[in-house]
Amino acid sequence: MSYCPICDGFLSSFGHTCPPLWEVCDAEDCDDQDWQTIREIDAEEAAREYAGKADSDSGGGPHERTVLVRAPGSTDVKRFFITFDYSIDYYAREA
Ligand SMILES: [Zn+2]
Repeated sequence: MSYCPICDGFLSSFGHTCPPLWEVCDAEDCDDQDWQTIREIDAEEAAREYAGKADSDSGGGPHERTVLVRAPGSTDVKRFFITFDYSIDYYAREA
């Protein structure tokens, strides 16, 4: 198996196209230097990915956040409202 050196995507025999780059930042804290680059299939996935990373950095972020996404250098900024739930799984086995 081989993987794309640019996006780490799996290179299949059907060919491969890297997903596009997006620039993302938190709407609450968004100066010019705060934009981060993420490679995802669409703007929504980029927003979700950014929120997931931001939360794991701080060890549990807010349950809601607004993430801004734009194509690199574009002034056309999309807004995504991110929500998530923690889930707790229970397992039972006969003792
Ligand atoms: Zn690729």
